[in-house]
Amino acid sequence: MRVALALGSNLGNRFDTLQGAVDALFDAPGLTFVAISPVYETDPVGGPEQGPYLNAVVIAETTLEPRALLERAQSVEDSFGRRRAERWGPRTLDIDLIAAGDHVLDDPRLTLPHPRAHERAFVLVPWADAEPGAVLPGHGSVAELAAASDTRGVRRLTDRTLQVPM
Ligand code: ATP
Ligand code: CA
Ligand code: CA
Repeated sequence: MRVALALGSNLGNRFDTLQGAVDALFDAPGLTFVAISPVYETDPVGGPEQGPYLNAVVIAETTLEPRALLERAQSVEDSFGRRRAERWGPRTLDIDLIAAGDHVLDDPRLTLPHPRAHERAFVLVPWADAEPGAVLPGHGSVAELAAASDTRGVRRLTDRTLQVPM
């Protein structure tokens, strides 16, 4: 099953956190790396006043169930000191499961596809870079959604790219 994971950080050393998160996600069986996007610096959307994010999207193949993959993502968040305080508040690391094959789940603990991905340029733009032919179930071409989205607050980092996990 093909999965798309969206990573974000706006506290601490944001770039090192993203790289550490990518390494940690793949440092266990069941997840095989496919592609990674460039890193984008993005203005926060919603939530309190807070600093800009670094965002990236990782594409993988997995034999894990979506719930098991979310648990892995959350344990990686925890290992980077993620605190769950205010909704949409600043965080060292956020990892969302954006889509998992064509799974559709309507559980608040795991909704698939992610219910806000289709309207978020900070997800759509890097996702289209990493996987140009991607389709967001229920919404269509990710590249087309990205092109139609409001990308004003989304700036590609040109001087640094994430290393592919070994
Ligand atoms: P948003 O979901 O709008 O991006 P957020 O990432 O800040 O907000 P969190 O506090 O990280 O929200 O997560 C709240 C809960 O969302 C998690 O405990 C998780 O169970 C649930 N959740 C539901 N669907 C998903 C998904 N597709 N990916 C990640 N978490 C999800
Ligand atoms: Ca999120
Ligand atoms: Ca999240």
